[in-house]
Amino acid sequence: MKAIAVIPGKRNSAQVVDARRPSVADVPGGRGVLVKVLRVGVDGTDREINDAQYGRAPEGEPYLILGHENFGRVEAVGPGVTELAPGDYVVSTVRRPGGSLYDAIGTQDMTTDDVYYERGINLLHGFLSEHYVDRADDMVRIPRGARQVGVLLEPLTVVEKGIVQAFEIQRRLRVWRPRRAAVLGAGTIGLLATLVLRLRGFDVTTFGKAPRPNRNASLLEALGARYAITTDTRVPDAARRDGAYDLVFEASGFSPLVFEGMEALAKNGVLVLSSVTGGERKLEVDADRLNLGFVLGNKVMVGTVNANREYFELGVRDMTHAESAYPGWLVSLLTHPVEGLDRVGELFEKLNGGAKDAIKVFCEVAGQ
Ligand code: BGC
Ligand code: ZN
Repeated sequence: MKAIAVIPGKRNSAQVVDARRPSVADVPGGRGVLVKVLRVGVDGTDREINDAQYGRAPEGEPYLILGHENFGRVEAVGPGVTELAPGDYVVSTVRRPGGSLYDAIGTQDMTTDDVYYERGINLLHGFLSEHYVDRADDMVRIPRGARQVGVLLEPLTVVEKGIVQAFEIQRRLRVWRPRRAAVLGAGTIGLLATLVLRLRGFDVTTFGKAPRPNRNASLLEALGARYAITTDTRVPDAARRDGAYDLVFEASGFSPLVFEGMEALAKNGVLVLSSVTGGERKLEVDADRLNLGFVLGNKVMVGTVNANREYFELGVRDMTHAESAYPGWLVSLLTHPVEGLDRVGELFEKLNGGAKDAIKVFCEVAGQ
């Protein structure tokens, strides 16, 4: 079968390869599910893997099949699968368990192992192929009515986890009635974080770098959020003007904004960091003042990566909720389809900025 793969360590090596078509029997215990891939989204992680910054092939294999933002339809199930049937739409999680205690209880997103296994990213093949096979336990069913936006579930789960973690942490307060949130970054994750925070009733200001008018700013305003431009307004200045933020969700990919987020946080507030920053940027910071604000204000800063099954299930519920609160909003993030696995050049050209105004670039692997 066709697949899009990279040779890890070799820059710009994304290419079409002829891979072995997997079968349900590859999974022991009769729990295998064969999925026909319909759509796969691409993001900064794929860009960096194709740029040879990271990414490893499965042990002993020459290439890594890319793609982690998946959506597909079940074609066959093993004899031990009762929860899924051919014809069901599904999305698979990305990370597979390693050896730590957290992995053993289904929370591999919290692994303490140094090596992690992620489909399409590290040591496991991804989903940019005609078919894939997974354990039924590692996939969730997508209702038919959400099939147009199913490919957005994986990035949405990254947001869901970050926000659930913030609420879990805030149980320390006995009572937490957050009102104001800031989202740093107005890309796909920033847009989705704004959506979920609006669904939870927050007053949200989202910071981006593009001047108006721009598509992302209009989409944010359609959610009833405010759009602010980081080059005009420092986050702490907005906080002084409008009130400090009970929750700050950092998703800009630009680590200096973390320190603005720290400064803009309200007393008892929580700052969630989600940007995977591969660089080596250095910065001089107002260390005493930032530290003092955290100490005297009982503030928390927490990192978050990946998402386990629980967040995929929550994400499915929020997709349905979003469709009733803001009809048509989610689907409008799917701005740049690329037809078929053969057009790998076009896929990466769009992902690398060749498409002006792109929000989500995705491969339309097969028709629904
Ligand atoms: C993926 C996550 C993954 C992270 C780190 C992100 O792009 O969406 O699932 O854990 O990269 O590899
Ligand atoms: Zn991703």
